[in-house]
Amino acid sequence: SWGSFTDKATYDWSSEEEEPDGRARPIQVLVVKDDHTFELDEAALSRILLADEVQNREVVAISVAGAFRKGKSFLMDFMLRYMYSQASESWLGEEDEPLTGFSWRGGSERETTGIQIWSEVFLVDKPDGRKVAVLLMDTQGTFDSQSTLRDSATVFALSTMISSMQVYNISQNVQEDDLQHLQLFTEYGRLAMEETFLKPFQSMIFLVRDWSFPYEFGYGQEGGMKFLEKRLKISENQHEELQNVRKHIHSCFTNISCFLLPHPGLKVATNPNFDGRLKEIDREFINNLKILVPWLLSPKNLDVKEINGSNITCRGLLEYFKAYIKIYQG
Ligand code: GDP
Ligand code: MG
Repeated sequence: SWGSFTDKATYDWSSEEEEPDGRARPIQVLVVKDDHTFELDEAALSRILLADEVQNREVVAISVAGAFRKGKSFLMDFMLRYMYSQASESWLGEEDEPLTGFSWRGGSERETTGIQIWSEVFLVDKPDGRKVAVLLMDTQGTFDSQSTLRDSATVFALSTMISSMQVYNISQNVQEDDLQHLQLFTEYGRLAMEETFLKPFQSMIFLVRDWSFPYEFGYGQEGGMKFLEKRLKISENQHEELQNVRKHIHSCFTNISCFLLPHPGLKVATNPNFDGRLKEIDREFINNLKILVPWLLSPKNLDVKEINGSNITCRGLLEYFKAYIKIYQG
């Protein structure tokens, strides 16, 4: 047994703009505004990270990052299901149950470049007896013009700096520009950090959606690793630029891995009325989801956030978040 999901943090939902029913929801803690300035909702972030039950706990910060409309929220809703029902084998839910969570609000907020954090921090017992606080983050950017690329780079850098695991959500393949973006983003991050002999970031997971070459590299983590090894390989006859991108990525992360996820089926991809029920999702996708989500989130796989070699608590993370954002605000 991996220990069990215990209790949930509770919050004071007294302020006006919050949900009167106290239900957990995504909170936009960082926004990139139209004039390309950043705004951190320090009060909201403090409410989450300084809740009594979590503030002095070591924190595991899991971020899913990437462009809009690539299925991040959809995935995160399943991650939430796992976090809410971890003790149970049937965490995936009923065939007929609509998905809720990061996507339930829908509408315009989705198009905001920035960082959203799930308002509920989960307390989880690791097999070694430690109780850790798990924070889920959704990070979105647009990558369509120079100015928005810079915004996205900053947001991506910040989320990489404050997370212990960054899931880079990409569509169909790992293209050269996905790697170039990653280089730019992590360079932004590294510039803002103290220099140490340690690698600046922890785990990077390339999550490839709609993988359509399973006969070359099989779905899942093993196929993913073989595929990524090939994509990140450095060879003598490569152009110097390609070599540098790869060296840079290797030098930034302690762990790099990859998971190849199949297409979820046409209902998920094209039906505007699709509400996330399992029975409308391709079996192959669900089977892989059953492997992916526990691989990311099972208690034994949760790594505490480290900065310069020290474990960080929720309270500490808040301080780093504030300090890092100041650097980018200039
Ligand atoms: P986000 O903007 O990255 O958070 O994307 P969403 O989770 O809101 O999903 C955008 C659209 O893609 C929705 O219509 C989803 O039903 C659909 N979708 C979710 N997962 C996948 C996937 O793995 N592949 C494809 N092709 N579509 C997906
Ligand atoms: Mg989303």
